[in-house]
Amino acid sequence: MVDFTPQELSHFFPEMRAVLHDCHFANCTHRHEPQCAVKAAVEEGRISEERYHNYLNIIEDTNNTQ
Ligand SMILES: [Zn+2]
Repeated sequence: MVDFTPQELSHFFPEMRAVLHDCHFANCTHRHEPQCAVKAAVEEGRISEERYHNYLNIIEDTNNTQ
């Protein structure tokens, strides 16, 4: 079982890492938080939806959600 925190995992996604500091919450998992910079970047096309979904799948697989 892989055991990444969402914060660690996001570091494997450089395009996500580039916007992380703009998230409203420092411990943002980029799933359902308001004012999430990653979700905003996906909506604007700066992060590909495929990559974002890969991220979400890994997060859910790790069962490490709060
Ligand atoms: Zn976020």
